[in-house]
Amino acid sequence: MSDLPGRNDPCYCGSGKKYKHCHMKVDQESTKDRLMRAAAVQFVRRDLLKYAREEKFALYFAAALPLYWHDYYTLETADEMSEEEALRFFDWYVFDYIHTNEDGREEPRIIDQYAQDRWDDLAVPQQPIVTLWRGGMAAGGYELLSYEGQLLQLRDIVTGDQYEVYTSGGRGAVEVGEIILCRVLPSTEYADKAEWSFSTTGAYIPRDEIGDVAAQLAQAKEQYLTQHPDADHQAFMRRHNIILIHHALEQAKLKGRPPVARLDPNRSDKKKQLIIRQMRRLRR
Ligand SMILES: [Zn+2]
Repeated sequence: MSDLPGRNDPCYCGSGKKYKHCHMKVDQESTKDRLMRAAAVQFVRRDLLKYAREEKFALYFAAALPLYWHDYYTLETADEMSEEEALRFFDWYVFDYIHTNEDGREEPRIIDQYAQDRWDDLAVPQQPIVTLWRGGMAAGGYELLSYEGQLLQLRDIVTGDQYEVYTSGGRGAVEVGEIILCRVLPSTEYADKAEWSFSTTGAYIPRDEIGDVAAQLAQAKEQYLTQHPDADHQAFMRRHNIILIHHALEQAKLKGRPPVARLDPNRSDKKKQLIIRQMRRLRR
């Protein structure tokens, strides 16, 4: 907000009054609001990650990790995941993974169980974030249509729906026409910049690796809908967005590079060691 006037300068709104007698107070409130929202988002994100690693989810974790990574990582090698990979896995695990118990019944997602177990412990600004995230979309694949700085225009490769997304990291190495793998969520921290943002750092499928992945998804959806005629697109994606991950993994393997191309290969893995330590603890 460095482009705001000084206290005694004329206000930007054109009222002719000094800034301090005009819009200064409103601007300060909105900054405070934004900071509060950002702090709440950060808390819920961390708390969810902690909750997802509780002992009661040990069976979930044991089933979900090899499913997601297609055995690229196993329970034994889970701590070799980079920070980006760990965050991407946990995002899918918390928001999309549906565990099937021994009788074949589907359990509620971890985000749903979290809301049920922890609701009363959450502070007032934290509760609406949980509600927003529970109602959010499953992770999917989005074609990059165009971009301007940190604003990306995306198109869902299955539904064709378009989204304007703000991402502080920008498009990274992704070119127009390539596919970003991510979860698009209603914007909380950057609500003033765009309606949508990313849940966590995305990955992408380079142009020459896209192949028939959209067709694979369309076919899986058709099949799913014959068995579950009342299901909506999100119910389908939660159970089948793994197709995108597996396609990306397979392509990476063919090229002999690390799994799933990162959006921005130059960003550092700052929290890597922390996540790895947490993974070790979980396996004990
Ligand atoms: Zn003003």
